[in-house]
Parts: sequence; structure tokens; C-alpha cells
Amino acid sequence: MLLEELEELEELKLTCSKDLPDTVRLNGISFSRDNFIVMAGPCAVESYEVTYNIARNLRRFGVKIFRAGAYKPRTSPYSFQGLKEEGLEILKEIKKKSGLHIITEVMEISDIEKVCEAADILQIGSRNMQNFPLLREVGRLNFPVLLKRGAGSTIMELLGACEYIVKEGNEKVILCERGIRTFENLTRNTLDISAIPLLKSMTRLPVVVDPSHACGRSHLVPSLSLAAIAAGSDGLLIEVHSEPSGARSDPNQSLNLCDFEKLMDKLKILAKSLGKKI
Ligand code: PEP
Ligand code: MN
Repeated sequence: MLLEELEELEELKLTCSKDLPDTVRLNGISFSRDNFIVMAGPCAVESYEVTYNIARNLRRFGVKIFRAGAYKPRTSPYSFQGLKEEGLEILKEIKKKSGLHIITEVMEISDIEKVCEAADILQIGSRNMQNFPLLREVGRLNFPVLLKRGAGSTIMELLGACEYIVKEGNEKVILCERGIRTFENLTRNTLDISAIPLLKSMTRLPVVVDPSHACGRSHLVPSLSLAAIAAGSDGLLIEVHSEPSGARSDPNQSLNLCDFEKLMDKLKILAKSLGKKI
């Protein structure tokens, strides 16, 4: 670890940098340095039929954690904001029917309880990375939390945000690099590959990558995913849709099922050669 980083961590008194367990466990699944966990699904929960069809195909390809947002933090208030409670009910039904675990976003303190009833992992989105009251509140739970890096946040700011959660007692935090804003505008964001080894050298927590929001273009997603596992990522969060052009949210970055299956095959080979179980 670089000396300045060490000094800065000391100054911020971040416990997330040293004393935490290196594994986040859910029922039968562990995020750890020995495993590679692929979480996949549409950006948003859509109708039961569309969403369940995606989920059952993903399970066939070996996915164990299904992603889909019932509450969507959209840039424009006029864009689809998610199915909210109805979306949570759909997720519960999918979980029951498919046996998949669920990761879904929580945006407000008042929704935490009901989101926890549908989810196995709470996602804190990039826009809420520094919503400190929300971080404190999920910190009081004994529940896995995936914390996304803000598009304009430094690694130290991500670790500071993480500390708000662990300080309250919840040590089940998974960190997620999802691209940061740079001057490049051919991609939605720029995937900060160096964040992976850096975070892993500064904390024992699992680190995963969201290549979909990082680039915003589906044809780049497989390359970024392979780069992420090669750089030491412990998992991926990928947007997949049965009919990307018809997706209600983030159509351009959603992989179709066929391309996702091809990517999974490559990830399985890489994971094996890197000594990670997928
Ligand atoms: C998402 O995962 O759909 C999402 C909105 O991600 P982010 O917070 O990284 O933009
Ligand atoms: Mn999305």
C-alpha cells in the first residue's frame, strides 16, 4: 500500500480498511476472493412475464443472483421511475419460483423495510453513495449491501461512504466500481480498472464491477467484464434483457441473452484459470 494512502486512511480512521471479514455470505453464496459471482438481469423490473423469462434463462446459464430495480433513480423525472411496490411483489414471486437470489436498489429510508422483504442484497446506487442518512440506516441492519461508487467520487470518498455503513455495525458490504465521469464522451462513463486492485489493497471487502453503467454500450460490456475479472474483481453486476431494444430502462447497454451466454462461457474459463469458483 502506498504510504500516502496509509496515512490518509489512518487520518480518516477507516475500519473498513483493515478489520472487516473478507467474505460476505448470503444463503449458500459467498462473495470472497476465492469466488466470482455474476449478478445479472434487466435494469428495471418490468412485467412479471418479461422479467421472469429473463430470470429463468439467466439461471440456465449459471447465474445465482438476479438484478432488477423496482425503484429507478433516473436522470429525468419524466423517465420511467420503476414499478415500485408492484416491482417488489414481482421480485418476490420470481425469487420464489426460480430460487434466484435478488439484488435491488433502495433509494429512500422509508422503503428499506419493504425492499428487504424482496431482496437478498440491497443496492445503494451511485447517486446515493453520499446519502449519509441512508447509509447510516442500512448500516443498522444485518443485511448485505452493495455500495456503488459515485460517478464523481474518488476511491477515498467511496471508502468514507462505506465507513458510514460499517460504523453502525453492518460489515456485510460489497464495493462496486461502475465507471466514473471523464472527458471521454463516446462511453457513458469510464471504467476505472485501477480501482479494483486499489480497493483490494486497501480493504478486505469484496469488490465487484458493473461494466454496463461504466460504458453504456452493450457491445463493450463483454470486454470490460473480462478485463474486470483479470484485474481481480470478485464479481460482476451486468444488465441483460431478452429484448434490449424494448427495455424500459437502459436499452443501449443491456446485453441480449445470447451474448450474455457467450460471455458467461468465457468468464467460466477465466475464473477457473484464476483459481476462482464461479
Ligand atoms: C442500476 O444499477 O440500474 C443503476 C442505476 O446504477 P448506477 O447507480 O450505477 O447508475
Ligand atoms: Mn441501469
